[in-house]
Amino acid sequence: MVKAPVLPDMPRSVKAYSLSILFVAIAFFLNRTLHSITVAPPFATFLWAVILSAWFAGTGPAILAMLVSTILVDYYLLHPVYQLSVGPSDLLRIALFLATSSIITLLASRERRQSRKLNSILDGMSDAFLIYDRDWRCIRANRRAADLLGRDPVGSILWNAAPETRDSVVWDSLHRVMQERLPLSYEHYYPPLKAWLQADCFPTEEGISVFLRDITSRKESEESLKSSEARYRFLAESMSQYVWTTDEKGNVDYANHHFLNFTGQTFAEIQAGKTAKLIHPEDRARVLAVVGESLALGKPYELEYRARRNSDGSYRWFLARCELFTDPEGKLKWLGTGIDITERKKAADIINENRQQMRMVLDAAHVGAWVWDLNTNEVVDLGNTSEIFGVPKLDTIEVFMNALHPEDLERTKANIATALQTGGYDAEYRVVRSNGEIRWVRAFGSVLTDEENRPTQMAGVNFDITEKKRIEQALLKSEKLAAVGRLAASVSHEINNPLEAVTNLLFLIEREQDSLRLSEYIKIAQQELARVTEIAKQTLRFHRQPSHRSTASAGELTDSVLMLFRGRIAQAGVNVTTEYASGDMFLCYASEVRQVIANLVSNALDASLAGGKIRIRTKVITSPNLGRSIQVTVADTGRGMNAATQKLIYEPFFTTKESTGTGLGLWVSLEIARKHNGVIRVRSSNGSAKHGTVFTVLFPMETDSATATFTAAD
Ligand code: ADP
Ligand code: MG
Repeated sequence: MVKAPVLPDMPRSVKAYSLSILFVAIAFFLNRTLHSITVAPPFATFLWAVILSAWFAGTGPAILAMLVSTILVDYYLLHPVYQLSVGPSDLLRIALFLATSSIITLLASRERRQSRKLNSILDGMSDAFLIYDRDWRCIRANRRAADLLGRDPVGSILWNAAPETRDSVVWDSLHRVMQERLPLSYEHYYPPLKAWLQADCFPTEEGISVFLRDITSRKESEESLKSSEARYRFLAESMSQYVWTTDEKGNVDYANHHFLNFTGQTFAEIQAGKTAKLIHPEDRARVLAVVGESLALGKPYELEYRARRNSDGSYRWFLARCELFTDPEGKLKWLGTGIDITERKKAADIINENRQQMRMVLDAAHVGAWVWDLNTNEVVDLGNTSEIFGVPKLDTIEVFMNALHPEDLERTKANIATALQTGGYDAEYRVVRSNGEIRWVRAFGSVLTDEENRPTQMAGVNFDITEKKRIEQALLKSEKLAAVGRLAASVSHEINNPLEAVTNLLFLIEREQDSLRLSEYIKIAQQELARVTEIAKQTLRFHRQPSHRSTASAGELTDSVLMLFRGRIAQAGVNVTTEYASGDMFLCYASEVRQVIANLVSNALDASLAGGKIRIRTKVITSPNLGRSIQVTVADTGRGMNAATQKLIYEPFFTTKESTGTGLGLWVSLEIARKHNGVIRVRSSNGSAKHGTVFTVLFPMETDSATATFTAAD
């Protein structure tokens, strides 16, 4: 824009009017000066003042200049001078001056309006606009150009004002436009402004015009787009996975080099969809269906399939995932990744196979196996555990606890607590299956700990021992019968003597006349028969199995046993002595306690030599573990046992008595003692000088039935 000559800071209109007055003053001064040299036409210089005022200051100031000039000319220059009176010839001159001035003012104002309009258009443009003449001098520039360049370029030569443009695309482009007279556009980075500029150049009459636009932000976003895309590419290429992208319709538009290497195809072949034929024939239809559906519905997919590797022609297992995403340009695309899971599959197959084998073994052995996570309380059933417990799924410790027989719950919890301390788990409990059936289970396990030795897991096995329990029970019963059987000889011997006596007495009675003697014989016969009755009663008691406990005296129970052994004792030539504590009464299953004593006495007799001694004692003692208890001791001076034998005597079927022994006596005795919450202890010596065995049985007097060990027969 062309600016008016500089004036001190004043309001615009004041400036303009002052300017016109200044022009008039100069015209007046010039006129006076010229007047002294030559005869100047009085209005000539003032016409210029009006023209200049009209051009630079505007219509109003021009009219002011016109009027002031007329007054000055009339007063100072027209005759009569120093008067405002006007002659007819001067009137015409004044009129001519005013007319000329008015026309000029009118024209100038129109010109000014147009120029202002053009300037306002140019200044309103968002692009910078510059016109250069053929000497590369800027002859016009809008305000935006001045703003952009930081200076008013008008008047300066382009290559001088911006020397850095000389070696750039600017020089070449502008010279081409100037010479070839054809429009041209270019983009360049302009270092002084740190800006990217786009230039549209047109040939004009004067030279060329240039529109400049700052495109820095567009360039920057383009650059960042390029660099973010480069980053994606880099990522995709450096990943060990197979990576590809497709457009929304599923056409591949990128595949990383792993993908290309694997398929051995060119990118063009991949784009042409030739990868599908690399998929294993058995998997192909499935894969295409899933991919097709995913594309149609726009939902991600995850697939496992086999694809042929180009390098060796082998099929590899893949896990492929595909997700929708929006790329940096805002386009919807699919991103697919594939991992070779062949090795993983192989490992999984092996594990599966192992697991199947383990299951087979567990199934064959009817063993359950499990792992219990102590942190989450989750239980993993490795096989059969749920079946053994008769639950649909044993997956938490709560399910386990709920399945336990209420009477075994506390004991099992105690076993678990012990396991967590000692590391070893050993428990026997009943479970109540969902159909109400009760099963006996034996469990072994061990506790796994973390680095800080805190228990984290417990793993173990379960056996259903119900059958074993049943057999044991049957054995117990049969052993009882066998014990009675073994007593038969002794019993018949016992009965035989009194019966023989009765037979003899009857013979005598038949012949005896003396009534006194007769009644004597009959009395003896009655006594003998009473003995027979007593023996028969004791034998029956042995056999009977009361289902409830009763109070009995240990001493009396011992006596009733000894009565049946009398014959055997006499035969063996052994001296049996007894010593009973008073008040040795306790609550027990009497026939079973009798069986224990009978077993111990029988064993003592078996071990004893002729002349040996057997001492039987009962005592009321206070045991540290069992509290007030009845203690029954059976001590013999028999041959005794070595340490190895002592370890095995409670095992069922362990016997050193070849044909005569069953090996069940002590096993049954231990069971019975346990049933009473009692214990059996043994001390034995088989030395040549001092030999013998002492069996001690303790029966607690206050038995809490809830903690008693139950057997399946209960
Ligand atoms: P059995 O009497 O049928 O052999 P038991 O279970 O009663 O079966 O006893 C097992 C074994 O313990 C016996 O065979 C014997 O070797 C040993 N035994 C038991 N009691 C005694 C004893 N008092 N003295 C020596 N050995 C004994
Ligand atoms: Mg025995």
